[in-house]
Amino acid sequence: MKDTDPHITRITETAPVATNTHGGRAKCLQRLVRLSLPVPLTVALSFRAVNDIAEGRLPSMADLLEPFGEHPLLCVRPSSEDPDWGGPSAVLNIGMNDATHARLSAQIGEEAATALYKSFVRTYSVHVERLDPDMFEDLPPSGPEALALSLRAYREETEEEFPQDPAVQLAAVLKSMARAWRGTTARLLRQAKGAPADAGLGLVVQEMALGLGKDGECGSGVMQLVSSTSGKPRITGRYLSQSQHREALREGSRALYLARDERGPSLQELAPEAYDRLVEYCQLMRFRLREEMQAEFTIENGNVHVLDALRVSRSPRAALRIAVALAQDGVIPRDEALCRVESRALNEMLHHQIDPEAPRDVLATGIAASPGAATGKLVFSAAAAQAGKARGEATVLVRRETGPEDIRGMHAAVAVVTERGGMTSHAAVIGRGLGLPSVVGCSELSFDVKKERLRARDGRMLKAGDIVTVDGSSGDILAGAAPLIEAAHDEAFQAMMAWAWEYCDIGIRANADTPADAEVARRFDAQGIGLCRTEHMFFDAGRLTVMREMIFADVAADRRAVLDRLLPMQRADFIELFRIMQGKPVCIRLFDPPLHEFLPSDRAGLRELAEALSLPLSDVTRRVEALSEYNPMLGMRGVRLGITMPEIYEMQARAIFEATVEASREGDPVVAEIMIPLVSAKREVEMVKTRVDAVAAAVRNETGRDFTYRLGVMVETPRAALKAGDIAPHAAFLSFGTNDLTQMTYGLSRDDAGKFMSDYVKQGVFPEDPFHTLDTDGVGELLMIGAERGRAARPDLILSICGEHGGNAESIAFCRSAGFDYVSCSPFRVPVARLAAAQARI
Ligand code: PEP
Ligand code: MG
Repeated sequence: MKDTDPHITRITETAPVATNTHGGRAKCLQRLVRLSLPVPLTVALSFRAVNDIAEGRLPSMADLLEPFGEHPLLCVRPSSEDPDWGGPSAVLNIGMNDATHARLSAQIGEEAATALYKSFVRTYSVHVERLDPDMFEDLPPSGPEALALSLRAYREETEEEFPQDPAVQLAAVLKSMARAWRGTTARLLRQAKGAPADAGLGLVVQEMALGLGKDGECGSGVMQLVSSTSGKPRITGRYLSQSQHREALREGSRALYLARDERGPSLQELAPEAYDRLVEYCQLMRFRLREEMQAEFTIENGNVHVLDALRVSRSPRAALRIAVALAQDGVIPRDEALCRVESRALNEMLHHQIDPEAPRDVLATGIAASPGAATGKLVFSAAAAQAGKARGEATVLVRRETGPEDIRGMHAAVAVVTERGGMTSHAAVIGRGLGLPSVVGCSELSFDVKKERLRARDGRMLKAGDIVTVDGSSGDILAGAAPLIEAAHDEAFQAMMAWAWEYCDIGIRANADTPADAEVARRFDAQGIGLCRTEHMFFDAGRLTVMREMIFADVAADRRAVLDRLLPMQRADFIELFRIMQGKPVCIRLFDPPLHEFLPSDRAGLRELAEALSLPLSDVTRRVEALSEYNPMLGMRGVRLGITMPEIYEMQARAIFEATVEASREGDPVVAEIMIPLVSAKREVEMVKTRVDAVAAAVRNETGRDFTYRLGVMVETPRAALKAGDIAPHAAFLSFGTNDLTQMTYGLSRDDAGKFMSDYVKQGVFPEDPFHTLDTDGVGELLMIGAERGRAARPDLILSICGEHGGNAESIAFCRSAGFDYVSCSPFRVPVARLAAAQARI
């Protein structure tokens, strides 16, 4: 091998190996070499070298083999730029031939040597020569006869003897791996994981460390220092004596941490020195590679070889714990720890667990592969999960095992259960990545996929559509909807949130309509309430009738009389919110929805209403019909109600001010914020403002107490954004209601778009659902126009958004760069928003 060829280079401390030329595995191996870990001799082939091989331009095999000595025994593994993009399977034991077999028989015993040879013949036949794997199915599992029959099967199929020359074997393996990378399935799979179309493949050729032998402990396995599920420190992994690497990962091999059991002692007992050394290596990698790594190792006659190291796979919760621990130990700075956790993952992590106090009706138990709990209807195909999601139903996807074709279904489902597989199976890995509660290897359930039925361990039958709860933290599948509780917010979470505060330079408030929402908002340290949708306070059974009476009042005086009964209820609501928020700003939106939303739509409901109001059914029906609109979302709602029935807003303003006075008596003075919805003209604001100011003056007079408040405008119509310069002089703040603003900018019904949105996104018409991620091009331009014109007219204008986008990372980054003062999102998304905002700054 020429030392000067950077494309085929032995991995040394100084070799010119880089992730973007030789792939992540090659680079990682170089890092291990630099840490002086016992890495077997390795040669890296660059993307270009592998590309040449795929096109038939093979390098000199003699040069390539030269560093490995006279009797090479090698393995070849893929090295793509990002390990997640995958690559062809590794091929072990290249160089195995009659001579090596004889040599190894003396070294490790004939039985083991024969097994290796036979397994290599099979791998070579299937993966390199692409022979039918069935050919090998009926052969005896081991022994000289099995080897002879394998060699014969090869000869009969290829009409050639099994190649004995390691150079021929290696060339064929390299060619087949290089070509496999170009296959359509491989390309589509990696592109689905974000790989560019021209992503390259590197290969590493490594000397085999055998893991088999007679002199001292031999075997192979993996080790890591933390739990992949919780992120807590725990030495864990798998180890199998007398095995080569991949065998150790098969189900049934033993875990490193297990004490002696019927299968024999643990690695710690078998080879304490090797065990200690491995722990040391993992610790060294943690400090020097600044990451929790899983070591892949082989022990050969008591000596440890580190074949490779991978970033420990991790659940969202574990990712957070690992990042915090690395920062607390001074391995990485805090800002880096903040960036190592996907803000969206926090959301999932914070999600539900089954109430530990609740009774558990367990149908079956499998492997707890991805934590969290969720309830949904059983579905048996990815398509059914997607259809369920389109209907707004929570579904639990049940599969024998999952593959790439199930990924969309996994995205759509709330939980996944598989019959087969272990912690490293597809379902488990993808489930953890998505933060999706997952139970795998649940063989206690008998699957009848065709009939879409499951039999529980006690014989109960379940069918598609039945409700179950999946506990991905314990591995249990429970009958029915188990009571769920919020996730515990442990110390690591608190630490990360505190650090996020230090970097967060945009305010984060919560959308909270009820005292319960406000409590959650405060628990997550929201800096106030950015949107209280007051109409939600009127849906309670006790209030609905009063509300309906108000709607049925024919004249303003009657309406005012009913509103007087609603006033104390509203006042009590606001006092409670102010009390919970303890002096933090509370932004209350005046009544927004069309009135008919409070009225019954069917005959039985109309009859009940007629009874409650002592009115003839015909009167009630007529009135309800009169209120109905062709397009209520663009009809009599928001400020339009405030202009045509001013008594409603007056009552709400009075309730807010009286509550302000009341709550200020007890603690910090409250500065209420009042927001007018669905504005499209300056005059609307002027008129409402005049009335609200008058109510404030009256309350000051009546109570003899002074207070201040801020009146603002929701920008939810394109016209309000365009005319922000006219509106701003009358508003202390503008809050962009990006739900309605998106609806009106696109002319896209927010209630109906779900039916075709997935088609639109799938076909690339929209890059993403604009109700989920702010359309920064179009709606975003209106935000910028509104912000600029508003601030030009009033430099101290406060700007915010309070649509669903307020909790979305990309949208937060946009608002931050546009100079907004705060975002407001649902209370549970406050931590996500805070982390996303901190990341946007870092
Ligand atoms: C909005 O339109 O963005 C908004 C916050 O109001 P709502 O969702 O209540 O219409
Ligand atoms: Mg709105």
